[in-house]
Amino acid sequence: MPVRIVLRGLIDLLAPPRCAACDDTLEPGDEGFCVVCAPLLEPLTGAEGAMAAMRFGGPLASAMRRFKYGGRSELARPLAGCMAGRARELVAGLDAIVPVPLHPSRLTERGYDQASLLAGELARVVGLPRRLDLLARTRPTRVQASLPRAARLANVEGAFMATPRARGLRVLVLDDVRTTGATLSDACRALIEGGASRAISLALAAAEVDDDGALGA
Ligand SMILES: [Zn+2]
Repeated sequence: MPVRIVLRGLIDLLAPPRCAACDDTLEPGDEGFCVVCAPLLEPLTGAEGAMAAMRFGGPLASAMRRFKYGGRSELARPLAGCMAGRARELVAGLDAIVPVPLHPSRLTERGYDQASLLAGELARVVGLPRRLDLLARTRPTRVQASLPRAARLANVEGAFMATPRARGLRVLVLDDVRTTGATLSDACRALIEGGASRAISLALAAAEVDDDGALGA
């Protein structure tokens, strides 16, 4: 039996797995969401599903808030699990998964980069490398959720630059939440302008944006 699986069993005994949204105890060996939360998750299909794996809201929103603002970096694993099916459909013929880069100043505030952690887990699941050396942020952007739509669109214009290593590669660009889609399109555009031969995007969750710019649930 591989060491990783033995270790996993030991960890489950010492600290049983818990629901990513409500912390209810899961059966040993289970991971992700409990039997109450799991049916409330909303996978997206069709045109919506081409842009994000899930609808933002309910237990997914709780899990993402805990992941992003509650210091729960270990939730990257169940959250990446929510997008694994969609990612598998998209990654045929691609070379790498590229998380939307967080500006270093924001990384210092939070202590970890949630898109990068998600990309790492997803990359492991679909068998592609996560590449952190292909795309850089050229200037910090204000937190998107706090801005009205027009300001959000202007806020990300030209915020990214591809590195020379992106040349000729086909990549999946990954972010945690998609609102207007401006961040992901800007990142893809920067990669193509920098010589990447293909750049498609996927977010874990698509959120509605209301008039005051707050993230809808
Ligand atoms: Zn739950």
